[in-house]
Amino acid sequence: MSSPGPTGSGYRRRLGGGRKEALDERLREALLEPRDLEPIRLEGRLIPGLGAQPLALVHEPVDRPGKPLDALEGYMCGGGSHLASEYRPGAGNRKGRGVRSFRARCKKFLPGGLGYDRRGVDLDLSQEHELVRDTVREFARERVAPLAEELDREGRFPYELVAELAELGLMGIPIPERYGGAGSDTLAYAIAVEELTRVDSSVAITVAAHTSLGTMPILLFGNEQQREEWLPPLASGERLAAFGLTEPDAGSDAGATRTRAEQRNGSWIVNGSKIFITNAGTDISACVTITARTGEDEISNLVVPNGTPGYEISAPLKKLGWRASDTRELAFRDCAVPAENLLGERGQGFRQFLEILDGGRISVAAMGVGLAQGAYDLAYVYAKERHQFGRPISDFQAVQFRLADMATEIEGGRGLVYRAAWLKDQGRPFAREAAMAKLYTGELSNRAANWALQIHGGYGYMDEYAISRLYRDQKILEIGEGTNEVQRMVIAKHLGL
Ligand SMILES: Cc1cc2nc3c(=O)[nH]c(=O)nc-3n(C[C@H](O)[C@H](O)[C@H](O)COP(=O)(O)OP(=O)(O)OC[C@H]3O[C@@H](n4cnc5c(N)ncnc54)[C@H](O)[C@@H]3O)c2cc1C
Repeated sequence: MSSPGPTGSGYRRRLGGGRKEALDERLREALLEPRDLEPIRLEGRLIPGLGAQPLALVHEPVDRPGKPLDALEGYMCGGGSHLASEYRPGAGNRKGRGVRSFRARCKKFLPGGLGYDRRGVDLDLSQEHELVRDTVREFARERVAPLAEELDREGRFPYELVAELAELGLMGIPIPERYGGAGSDTLAYAIAVEELTRVDSSVAITVAAHTSLGTMPILLFGNEQQREEWLPPLASGERLAAFGLTEPDAGSDAGATRTRAEQRNGSWIVNGSKIFITNAGTDISACVTITARTGEDEISNLVVPNGTPGYEISAPLKKLGWRASDTRELAFRDCAVPAENLLGERGQGFRQFLEILDGGRISVAAMGVGLAQGAYDLAYVYAKERHQFGRPISDFQAVQFRLADMATEIEGGRGLVYRAAWLKDQGRPFAREAAMAKLYTGELSNRAANWALQIHGGYGYMDEYAISRLYRDQKILEIGEGTNEVQRMVIAKHLGL
């Protein structure tokens, strides 16, 4: 396969700027010349098992007889209520059981009767999603993997990789094309984030925080003028954006924000501070969207451009993991922000940031799956290579069971992430599923990193083994964008508790 890179042979060229033609051409190639199902290789080593997904899957068009899909929506999506309305206890149903048989229901509700819609649940990814995975997997393997250890050791922000990701169209995957994004969807974005995290979390969080936290608020709540001003450089990846919600005294309780903004002479005068903010202080950071108290019981969101007098950014914070990502403390001292930088309606900031966090959780959940998958990949290879008691340790059932458990949980976690992303893409409620996916994959990645390191024994504790970096990078997945406890609170609320 050709290597994606600055020459633009990747996703952007395939899908962006003449992207339809390029995609068609790529799909035609794939259909005409199906490739061997090539397993993924990391550091030149074959990784069968979960990593052995084909790099270019070709799906035959699914034959859907009868009516177009839209005609089925009432039955398939909200179908439960149609069927439930049929339940009339003891009211004329045969043998008084009150429940019409499945066969009878099909006859009544499906125009073609039983067998009308055998499509069921389609668990295949579309060709576009396969193409995104193919492109990002190749990029992560060829461009990120060789640099990851060095970037982590030096705590160096990966400018060169961000530029290449931008070239590939991966810095604005779910942003519409008219604003310079790739115009794809949440599922494609989640797949990309998963594939990056599989190899390196610092690069992945740079993309995820920029997209979900930095760019999304402007897309979702900005007016047309704000979108046109801010989105093109952000969605193209030329510049980065950040979201400043957390404060020293307002973490899980983010509504307790103390940062204040007062209107004076046509500006918002901001005073306060934010902590642990991703992507705010790089050389290419354009702005941070902050939450600020604009009245006694009122929170609003403001876009603060980098370089605004009174906006001070600390040196990068030293961290356990995500060492190559940019994390800063921000201070605002009589910082005058233009009045027109208010995002959406004044006083809607609380609702807005909850919505942003719901969406962001899908990408952090994708990171959980990616990290677990990466840990599995490393442990699998190591277990085959490491010999003790005269045989590979993968021969021992204790090691096999660990790998089997990891493989099983990864499949489960991926399913939760894809479903949350799919719901969002359908325009359906997804907050509960996003919180479930984030909670499950956060804890899954913890178990996977721990087991994978255990399989490496003492070598896994050494910096030169990648698993030690994954182990350090994992913990934040149970803290950022809402701790495990906060996810449980969100889920419980959705359960009506
Ligand atoms: C590397 C990194 C990057 C980050 N990037 C960003 C960013 O870009 N933007 C941003 O705004 N924030 C960012 N954050 C902040 C992150 O979202 C917060 O750290 C997180 O929300 C938790 O807040 P806290 O650290 O103040 O912990 P606290 O809220 O103080 O929580 C401490 C502990 O108490 C528990 N707890 C709190 N309340 C309850 C409760 N009601 N019931 C049960 N348990 C509870 C928590 O679960 C946790 O275990 C980042 C953090 C890190 C470390």
